[in-house]
Amino acid sequence: MLKTTGVPNDQDLDGVFPPQERLGKGPVVVVECFETIPCNPCYTACHFGGIEAFKDITDLPTIDFEKCNGCTLCISNCPGLAIMVIDYQYHKDYVKMTIPYEFFPLPKEGEWVKGLDRRGEVVINVQVILVKNAKHQDKTPLISIAVPKAHFKKLRNIEVGDSNDQS
Ligand code: SF4
Ligand code: SF4
Repeated sequence: MLKTTGVPNDQDLDGVFPPQERLGKGPVVVVECFETIPCNPCYTACHFGGIEAFKDITDLPTIDFEKCNGCTLCISNCPGLAIMVIDYQYHKDYVKMTIPYEFFPLPKEGEWVKGLDRRGEVVINVQVILVKNAKHQDKTPLISIAVPKAHFKKLRNIEVGDSNDQS
């Protein structure tokens, strides 16, 4: 599936998502990097040992979920937009998901937007919690959204516009 469509299936995602036990401990990174390309800015961006040292520049990143504190620093450094941070403990019904977003217009905090799956199809409308567009993010802003727990593994992107309600 991944090789022919570029879209990871449930098995691919199970291989990169943190275990439920780790999700219960606070924010943590999810790295959906499946192609062996010469690239390692995720590793060099992390000051906490959350991404283990590469033996070879083409290695896929190996995550140490216990060392990752969910700081989000690595997200904007990934040229493949492959990284997000999930805070499963954000709310009893909602996960806080922080994703890279390189489209305009940027959403506003509090705005309702379309939550998209990995195929770009609408799953559910979600509310934007936070927009970060600092200089050090180098034109890859971070958007945090509140996603119902039933959907958090499906969502991967957002679409801004015509979604200013919860339906
Ligand atoms: S979220 Fe922070 S601690 Fe975790 S891997 Fe990324 S840079 Fe490291
Ligand atoms: S920076 Fe992104 S694309 Fe490059 S190795 Fe890390 S996760 Fe993969």
